Amino acid sequence: MIQDIAPKKFYNQYAAKKTSANSRILSFSDGKILYRETAGEMDFLTFEQVEAHFMLENEKSELPVYTYLFSIDEEDFFLMDLQDQIFEDFTYHRMFETRRLHPKEYVLAAATGWHLYVWYRDNQFCGRCAQKLVHDEHLRMMKCPSCGNMVFPKIAPAVIVGVTNGDKILMTKYAGREYKKYALIAGFTEIGETAEQTVEREVMEEVGLHVKNIRYYKSQPWGYDSDLLLGYFCELAEEHEIELDETELSLAEWVDYKDVPDDPEGLSLTREMMLTFREKKKREHGELS
Ligand SMILES: [Zn+2]
Repeated sequence: MIQDIAPKKFYNQYAAKKTSANSRILSFSDGKILYRETAGEMDFLTFEQVEAHFMLENEKSELPVYTYLFSIDEEDFFLMDLQDQIFEDFTYHRMFETRRLHPKEYVLAAATGWHLYVWYRDNQFCGRCAQKLVHDEHLRMMKCPSCGNMVFPKIAPAVIVGVTNGDKILMTKYAGREYKKYALIAGFTEIGETAEQTVEREVMEEVGLHVKNIRYYKSQPWGYDSDLLLGYFCELAEEHEIELDETELSLAEWVDYKDVPDDPEGLSLTREMMLTFREKKKREHGELS
């Protein structure tokens, strides 16, 4: 999955770090991220390259402000707004395109950087008194110098649900989304409900089915949509026809484990859950040693 980058390690504790020459700079613009792609490999600007660019092109202007994001092993990542600068070879690509690229730790960096960027972008002013917020010195937190309001990063919990019925799993396709492949039932947790209640509610809303034996599987950070995804398996409680919510889904169907497709991308919890179901069934049917 996207977070599985071992032996490399991801460190996300905030610190008021300074850039060094080989720090990586992430810049975003309207659903896009700045990088250079060479044969499926993505590369981010280094601070050294950004500095050299500003020396050459913008003698009089100062470097944009930067914010420390996270580190992967020894490599520090910073957020900087470079939208009005032109870099040779480095261009803005849609966030979605990063999913097919390498190395994997940069895919994680892109998605997580995007999540933090969206949060910083949308939390510049106090929601209580409208003053300009400032960054806390020690924590990933924006605070209001006027009323003391503390604004912490926003993460939206959502469930991914593998509904099974014997040898079959319920697969869906979303209506009007960029992602066109098979998915599982999914939805955001509402204020006041447990994740298990979200599972029951979403399955009922999207396909009109009752489920039982709800079991937690795994979680994953999904910065593309500012989510923390919680994976659950459950079973169909009673035979009933699928009643599709066509505003959400374009398709929902029971798929035999033999027909669950491979997952060359290896990023999403959804796809891992499909494969987990397929391999479990193969073992049960003696098709795996
Ligand atoms: Zn305030």
